[in-house]
Amino acid sequence: MTQKVLILGAGYAGMMTASRLERLSTEFTLINKNPYHYFTTLLHEVAGGRSTPSNYSVPLTDVLDKPTTHISIDEVTSINRRERTVQLRSGQNEPYDFLVITVGSVPEYFGIPGLAENSLVLNTLDSATRIHQHFEEQMEAYTQDGDMRHLRIVVGGGGLTGIELLGELLDLIPELCARYGITEQKIDLQTIEAASEILPQIPNRLRSKAVGLLTQKGATLHVNTRITEVTAGCVHLGDNQMIEAGTIIWTGGVRANPLLTDAGFTADRRGRAKVNQFLQSVDDHHVFVGGDSAWCDGENGTPLPPTAQMASQMGHVIADNVVALISGNAMTTFRARSLGTLASLGREVGVGTVLGVPVHGVIGGLFKESSKLKYLWELGGIRLVEKKANQVI
Ligand code: NAD
Repeated sequence: MTQKVLILGAGYAGMMTASRLERLSTEFTLINKNPYHYFTTLLHEVAGGRSTPSNYSVPLTDVLDKPTTHISIDEVTSINRRERTVQLRSGQNEPYDFLVITVGSVPEYFGIPGLAENSLVLNTLDSATRIHQHFEEQMEAYTQDGDMRHLRIVVGGGGLTGIELLGELLDLIPELCARYGITEQKIDLQTIEAASEILPQIPNRLRSKAVGLLTQKGATLHVNTRITEVTAGCVHLGDNQMIEAGTIIWTGGVRANPLLTDAGFTADRRGRAKVNQFLQSVDDHHVFVGGDSAWCDGENGTPLPPTAQMASQMGHVIADNVVALISGNAMTTFRARSLGTLASLGREVGVGTVLGVPVHGVIGGLFKESSKLKYLWELGGIRLVEKKANQVI
């Protein structure tokens, strides 16, 4: 009898699992809220208006088109591990024999009062578009009433998301200022970082280059400064200071989709479900967990970061292990390979490491662009590269 395989979520891990299962001719159903997969790692480009939002997504059926693949556009509302069913927003209950949970993450607000209500986030195509529109509306509002607060943007969090967004907004400013007849120097773009430095993932020497470039382009970077509360149009800081701003964006971290803790999986403090070396839930061997949903220890024993790179690698192994489990073969141990970390600092330059080699400037930017090609190739082969590469590069 055919075993029923369900994949929940079409992010990096879910799509990689699905595309590999297709290649292995295994029947499965992919359940996703939207009929498309979007490139989460490029959302800052959407916010910065580099290209139109539709260029940053691909219809699921452009990647998955075998008769053994079933796609259901619906939202998962809960998982019942005892009955082995998944409940959907439409009211349907989907049974499974094997479940792959790749449902991504949500913003982590750390219980900071007013933060969720009074800030924008960068986690979906819609939210990226909203940031862009909001910024433009603030420019427009300034031309009406001359209130300088409209021209102030505060980005909370100086991790990779916050800094890539900052770089993109800095490159957008000249374009918008020209359009609205505003002097560029009037724009006040500030990043607030609680730790002692931004971009902890990259080497010190490169970090100072990034700081130099961003400040030279006009950004103000505050470190050792914690956001403690946000009220309408106002960011409150740990030292009793406050900054009034027309645009407040929170990029202070992520936590796993609450579906996992709701389903009772053993989880870390960010709600990620603990997996074994085969990426199976430690609580239930019929369940595989990948991407931002998985709490997976790397070789040195520290949990892997929730990155697209790890998610894609996990997806590949999950697919192989689902097939192995169905056919009674030995499963593959997941071994994460870090190819490096790259942060774009605007449209043309980037900074980070590739296979341990530090890169920065235009070369860093080029490596970042080539990582887009690599992903398209791995996901959909030459057909997808041909279709999308000229839109996102
Ligand atoms: P993060 O957790 O990596 O960074 C959030 C930052 O916000 C931290 O530096 C933290 O100190 C700061 N912060 C938290 N609370 C704060 C407060 N109250 N006030 C001020 N600052 C505060 O989150 P992220 O940048 O969204 O990244 C999430 C994951 O995605 C990471 O694993 C990251 O590596 C990955 N990512 C990778 C890329 C890339 O490879 N280019 C891009 C984006 C995200």
